[in-house]
Amino acid sequence: MYDVIVIGAGPTGATAAKALADSGLKVLIVERMKLPRYKSCSGVLIKKSMDLVQQYFGKAVPASAMCTPNDNHGMILTDDNGKAYTFEQEGLNVWRSSFDNWLTEKAVEAGAELRGCTSAISCEQSAEHIELRLHFDRTYTEKARYVIDCEGVTSVIKRKVLGTTPEFITTFQTFNEGKIDLDLHYFYAYLQPELSEYDAWFNVKDEMLVLGVAVKETNKMLRYYDNFIRYMTENHGLAITKTMKRERWLMPRICSDCKLDYGMGRLFFAGEVSGFLNPMGEGISAGMESGHSVALSVIEHFNVPASVLDDYKKRTEMLKVYMQRQWHFVSGMSETFGEMRAAL
Ligand SMILES: Cc1cc2nc3c(=O)[nH]c(=O)nc-3n(C[C@H](O)[C@H](O)[C@H](O)COP(=O)(O)OP(=O)(O)OC[C@H]3O[C@@H](n4cnc5c(N)ncnc54)[C@H](O)[C@@H]3O)c2cc1C
Repeated sequence: MYDVIVIGAGPTGATAAKALADSGLKVLIVERMKLPRYKSCSGVLIKKSMDLVQQYFGKAVPASAMCTPNDNHGMILTDDNGKAYTFEQEGLNVWRSSFDNWLTEKAVEAGAELRGCTSAISCEQSAEHIELRLHFDRTYTEKARYVIDCEGVTSVIKRKVLGTTPEFITTFQTFNEGKIDLDLHYFYAYLQPELSEYDAWFNVKDEMLVLGVAVKETNKMLRYYDNFIRYMTENHGLAITKTMKRERWLMPRICSDCKLDYGMGRLFFAGEVSGFLNPMGEGISAGMESGHSVALSVIEHFNVPASVLDDYKKRTEMLKVYMQRQWHFVSGMSETFGEMRAAL
């Protein structure tokens, strides 16, 4: 019997597992992929994420997790009218595979057990514990007093337990050789409705020019992408000589009420599973903070599951307000997010 099983070795799961193991609890992390695993991401750690790494892991992000240019200087947002706004902020440029793997290693060093290539399939709760069905070669069961679900956007467990199908945004990005007339230290987001159904973006990773669009309807993905490439060519001198990689991923679609699911009984959700995601797809800081919060709630109220839930909600209240404020801010810049204006 484990005290806590954490599903998923992303920033949310690694942070939760580290805090739980630090407190002396018996912790198992199950991760469906072999680590280090790939995660489609722009890999920008905003200042808040950098600070949380220092606070929760007691160390700065290592150079081995970074890609060039290492330092990010902030975000340049272009609104519906094509007007660009610069938000200067210290940040880092990382490869998620290396960054997430490093966080997970720290959780393991703190005492958590890690099982890679192991998928959580379903769970069943009783008054005393929770049983988690897992798969690695064969299907088997582990018991724990709590399960913290940090599966990211496509959570199987949440869908089974709540019986709901989440709404997704599809992201599509390409990694290219070429040149562009922009300062490569910034993350660029474009909100014009003709370029995407959410946002379009440009950033650089190890000299590769990364260009992406997010859409609600996948059949429109390539049309928006072509529009975006044309726009960047005409406005910023983009010239692609070779496309090395194309990738599709999913993101939670944040709706106007910014609804969050915290869990129930002995099962809790954190990070993207619970709905924590800031505009422009910034989710690492929210994942780490919610993962840490739920871990502290479990530690403090270990024998009273109902108190864990209340405490977790309280601990993440400011995080929720921060997220809502950011969506409200973006809603003022683009009609795409106009519905947020009225709701928040
Ligand atoms: C294109 C794109 C660009 C982004 N850019 C940024 C950015 O620059 N900065 C930023 O802060 N955020 C960014 N994000 C958002 C960020 O990637 C996520 O918000 C963040 O990864 C959420 O962390 P998480 O730990 O909750 O989930 P994840 O990082 O997705 O981790 C979940 C883990 O759970 C595992 N898992 C899933 N299901 C199971 C299962 N059934 N059993 C066992 N394991 C399972 C997965 O393999 C994965 O390792 C971006 C997202 C996208 C799609």
